[in-house]
Amino acid sequence: MELLSNRLKSVYDMVDPESRVADIGSDHAYIPIELVQNNIIDFAIAGEVVEGPMNISKQHVENFGLSNKIQVRLGNGLDVILGPDLIDTVIIAGMGGILIENILSKSTSEQLENVKNLILQPNIGEPLVRKWLSENNFEIIDENIINEDNHTYEIIKAKKIKNPKVLSESELLMGPILSKTKKEAFISKWSRKLESYEKSLKNIQRAKNIDQDKVNQITNNIELVKEVLK
Ligand code: SAM
Repeated sequence: MELLSNRLKSVYDMVDPESRVADIGSDHAYIPIELVQNNIIDFAIAGEVVEGPMNISKQHVENFGLSNKIQVRLGNGLDVILGPDLIDTVIIAGMGGILIENILSKSTSEQLENVKNLILQPNIGEPLVRKWLSENNFEIIDENIINEDNHTYEIIKAKKIKNPKVLSESELLMGPILSKTKKEAFISKWSRKLESYEKSLKNIQRAKNIDQDKVNQITNNIELVKEVLK
């Protein structure tokens, strides 16, 4: 497990055994390499949109002698997935929520046809990702939160389902599962956020022309966070 940081290990841990995985935005292919090395899976695609990082991935896969099981492909988002690949699990990690949402929104129904699980790790903008999932027939079945290098990362696993549970505003913001498990990293992330919301609110209220929409939005967030943390 030497290749994986805590963040990547949390993503790795959410992959079901024997799945067929596409790791999108794979500039090192570490997750597919570890999954295949440890006999968790037998086939993966490492997709990358930029040639330089794609070559690094290719080199890593070759160094581990795994080119027969991990195919490194150049392409935008889910374009690297072809029907015969029978990919059932897509990983998108280490990007902003806007980019992840954008990649998912651009995917075609054929690319998602065989996909049962999405494992997503947005660096920021998690609510946007949860919103896309809930509007596109994916239900969140697992979430984790970890601290690494002074950053808090959330990892979200969602399963394709016909009528996914509707998420409340609070669940979109803080995560339906994370809000229940209330891990230490979660409590400290949202305690920090609460402090920063309260500070911003004070600053806005001191201004000459008060932006009432902003005040309402921050006040709402404060209430949501307080409710979950209490
Ligand atoms: N997934 C790895 C991780 O979590 O450590 C790498 C994260 S790295 C910060 C993001 C990678 O995604 C970059 O190599 C970037 O070129 C690639 N990327 C960005 N947009 C992409 C897209 N639309 N399709 C495929 N790869 C993309």
